[in-house]
Amino acid sequence: MDSYEQNYINGQWVTSDGGTPHHVINPATEEPSTKIILGSKADVDAAVAAAKEAFKTYSQTSREERLALMGRIVEEYQKRIPDIANSLAAEMGAPISLGNAMQGPAGLGGFAGTMEALANFEFSDRQGDNLIVYEPIGVVGMITPWNWPLNQIALKVAPALAGGNTMILKPSEECPGSAAILAEVMDAAGVPPGVFNLVQGDGPTVGAAISAHPDVDMVSFTGSTRAGILVAKAAADTVKRVHQELGGKSPNLVLPGADLEQVLPATIGGVMINSGQSCIAPTRVLVQNDQTADAVNVVKTIVEAQQVGDPMTEGNHIGPVVNKTQYDKIQGLIQSAIDEGATLETGGTDLPSNVNRGYYVKPTVFSGVTPDMRIAKEETFGPIVTLMGYDDLDEGVAIANDTEYGLSAVISGDPAEASKVAPKLRAGMVIVNNWGPSPGAPFGGYKQSGNGREGGLYGLKDFMEIKSISGVPG
Ligand code: NAD
Repeated sequence: MDSYEQNYINGQWVTSDGGTPHHVINPATEEPSTKIILGSKADVDAAVAAAKEAFKTYSQTSREERLALMGRIVEEYQKRIPDIANSLAAEMGAPISLGNAMQGPAGLGGFAGTMEALANFEFSDRQGDNLIVYEPIGVVGMITPWNWPLNQIALKVAPALAGGNTMILKPSEECPGSAAILAEVMDAAGVPPGVFNLVQGDGPTVGAAISAHPDVDMVSFTGSTRAGILVAKAAADTVKRVHQELGGKSPNLVLPGADLEQVLPATIGGVMINSGQSCIAPTRVLVQNDQTADAVNVVKTIVEAQQVGDPMTEGNHIGPVVNKTQYDKIQGLIQSAIDEGATLETGGTDLPSNVNRGYYVKPTVFSGVTPDMRIAKEETFGPIVTLMGYDDLDEGVAIANDTEYGLSAVISGDPAEASKVAPKLRAGMVIVNNWGPSPGAPFGGYKQSGNGREGGLYGLKDFMEIKSISGVPG
């Protein structure tokens, strides 16, 4: 069993002041995989004090110094990708091949995009008589989820460092090991003491203490809309900047007459990958009614070919979902779709036939889903595709937008036609014939999917303050 029982504060590994032990359960074996100590408010206070002190000097570093530091972090990070992949497989069930090829390297992508933005960033600008300058915000609190853990962490740590901020990271208590490895990376790269601090812990204690802390100037949160609202409420009294990357229920609007065999494999893959646990998974597949029967056949073939298996074994299979709570929630949603009259085309409740323990979910397809069903409205976070019909494109757009979320939307079909439909979709990211935005595209959502953007230039700007200086010479 792995063990990460200390926090990383002011450049040192330190024992928690009043924390409590916690075991992460391996979702493939249902046995403990990692022991951590859930931190306390006192740990947050110590980390914030260190970050506040370090801000005095780190905020004054040059672009070149920050780029050099980030370059050293990238070098050290690359060496640890196999360790990160192993940790993710054991804690959240991401298959080792996915960890080595995507989950681990995704963190590097966050650094690369930010470094490019920093290299070209205009820190000052003139508007009329005003000099406009971009400055660091201060101490940034970061609260992150378990599903693409290092991707979400790097999309905060990299722009915070690039912008001259100092930080306290609280990763998910479901997936703490990869964040501890990142702290080791920061240490090996020579990040100055206090610039990056890690406090392990849960949401109600450590997350809430970070959100409410008077010396934290910004809280950047990725996770569920439920917890994001609690973070914003806790932050309100100190009027700190709140940056939220929240849940999604993305549509895949298949344009009338689209070549289904051509457009569906990549986008259905976006529902299967990581066992469906992606905030931008395009789970709601909307097809014009006269193509529904063909779409069922195409989607069923793709989903039935999806293997499920041990995350520690190399291969293209998907692993279990993260924990029993998620497993039970997904089983409940599958049952709700059956009870509400959707047609189960493949998959369904209970374990896949090749496993007898673990939180594995059968890759599942429903057709005949209507917008009022729970499975059409709630974030599933499992390998479940729902097919919904529409009469004409206006109705398709209306159903695509009929959600409280607005993170991403896929359009499948002719790109020229898609470009006419894209402005009608109320989502922060529209992706044509794929499920993930291109590298460097601003990542973030409309409506209850959050506010603010991560990645590249727009992510960097979100981690900086804007100052106007009037009355100085040009
Ligand atoms: P979660 O909201 O349960 O937890 C996320 C983080 O918030 C964890 O670190 C948790 O400890 C913390 N937290 C929980 N309650 C808190 C509180 N009261 N105060 C402060 N912090 C608190 O989410 P999860 O289950 O870890 O992750 C899955 C969710 O994340 C999904 O909804 C998914 O869509 C979303 N997500 C969004 C994006 C995006 O970029 N929009 C990316 C990945 C995941």
